[in-house]
Amino acid sequence: MKKVVILTGAGISAESGISTFRDSDGLWEQYRVEDVATYDAYLRNPALVLDFYNQRRRQLFQVKPNEGHKQLVRLEQYYDVQIITQNIDNLHEQAGSSNVLHLHGELTKARSDRDDNLIVDIGDRDINIGDKAPDGAQLRPHIVWFGEAVPNIEPAAAMCEKCDYFVVVGTSMNVYPAAGLIHYVPHSSPCYLVDPKAVPISRNIKIFQEKAGTGVKKVVDELIAMA
Ligand code: NAD
Repeated sequence: MKKVVILTGAGISAESGISTFRDSDGLWEQYRVEDVATYDAYLRNPALVLDFYNQRRRQLFQVKPNEGHKQLVRLEQYYDVQIITQNIDNLHEQAGSSNVLHLHGELTKARSDRDDNLIVDIGDRDINIGDKAPDGAQLRPHIVWFGEAVPNIEPAAAMCEKCDYFVVVGTSMNVYPAAGLIHYVPHSSPCYLVDPKAVPISRNIKIFQEKAGTGVKKVVDELIAMA
């Protein structure tokens, strides 16, 4: 089977009701990144940071995958499909996608703030000050904060190097290193971009300037027709 790699960002979850990062109505208009999404912020005010992610987790359990997430699942009958997501929600998994690599962590997991490899499933539970990991250290969200290393970028780059088709959905391509993944895609592999505010990227890419809910279906139909 040919390989399709799909890179998704906050935009694919927008129609499920989760705010994006940079749109003018975005969640992040209400917060400064430096206050809630950096390790320094966590050291300065852990209660605020834990509360911010507790709110995000509670919201996740009130929303559902949308048509964009669901359409991607159809592709698995025809292709070896790998999703690489910048999202910390689990809407791809809820929709039924089999292979999802999270670049920036997952809301439903927590980890020791002493040992990055000690990761636990927390589902919908809040993380509070005093909640301990198995090693006795404070639990922190399993999130890659701004300024932190992105351990999954290497496997993601290796997936991109081997793909036959590359699809980008709902990302402003502003957050690195994720935005650089397209440079690993072979020049012979066709690329697609679905985003209502798509801006041309420095390589040949077919743009669907529309929301994920309608645009993903068009890309999926086109790929299935070529399978
Ligand atoms: P971004 O906010 O920078 O970009 C979102 C993109 O989605 C924009 O280009 C916008 O035009 C597009 N968009 C908006 N509505 C859309 C729709 N209905 N269909 C398709 N596209 C739509 O987000 P980013 O590029 O993912 O980077 C932001 C960072 O913030 C990421 O690292 C991510 O981890 C984090 N984040 C995650 C979530 C989530 O998990 N759902 C939500 C917000 C932010």
